[in-house]
Amino acid sequence: MVPFDTLRFIMTMLEKSNLLQDLRNYLIFLKDYGYSEIPLESGVILGSEADKANLLHPSLEMVRQPTIEPQKTIKSKPSLDIEGVREELGNCTRCKLHENRKTIVFGSGNPHADIVFVGEGPGADEDEQGLPFVGRAGKKLTEIIEKGMKLNRERDTYICNIVKCRPPKNRDPEPDEIAACNPYLIKQLLAVRPKAIIALGKPAASTLLGRTVPIMKERGNWYEYEGIPLMLTLHPAYLLRAYTLENRRNVMDDMNKVLAKLRE
Ligand code: URA
Repeated sequence: MVPFDTLRFIMTMLEKSNLLQDLRNYLIFLKDYGYSEIPLESGVILGSEADKANLLHPSLEMVRQPTIEPQKTIKSKPSLDIEGVREELGNCTRCKLHENRKTIVFGSGNPHADIVFVGEGPGADEDEQGLPFVGRAGKKLTEIIEKGMKLNRERDTYICNIVKCRPPKNRDPEPDEIAACNPYLIKQLLAVRPKAIIALGKPAASTLLGRTVPIMKERGNWYEYEGIPLMLTLHPAYLLRAYTLENRRNVMDDMNKVLAKLRE
């Protein structure tokens, strides 16, 4: 096992390398995910004294040949299933949204689905029923999935939100609330590990990409979230408010791109 700090030391030594940047991001992600150590494969751990010395004073060569395979490490962690993530979330009081919520709205659908939709946060109906997207916007989302994409919502998709508790008066979730929920969103998405994630609207897109996303400009484009293809599209509640032919067409174009990706 190599302590996280040693690996971070390796990172700082060679900050300019693109590879290092990728590794660094990955390590930060692992740390958020709860790892404090990372298993190395036997060639490094069981090698010569020189190998051990290199771990403390790494050469560029060693960093160029990482022994960590990100997805393998994550996938092989048996505790990463959706029930485990829900259990870990517990009766959450990590942010102020817990004060007014009736129910935690964790997620719904098939935890082995190829597609995950990520919305913003529960509204009144969702808070009441404990399920995401069951109000007016939810009906629109179901229509997009079932009539537009010809899929079955429960069987073919998994649906969740960036925050799991209703923001009072349906206000936007605040940065501290999004940050408190984010580790569970990450784990949830990695537990499902779909073939495509669809971010519904600006808050979901911005949370998943870690920057403010101008959604009207960037919708319809592919990005990546932890190695998973990520499509940005308009939120169904926005579609209801601005029910124009152009908006509806844009959302369907985005969904068709997702369907094409699944066929690849
Ligand atoms: N319902 C949800 O669950 N999420 C949203 O973003 C909107 C409505």
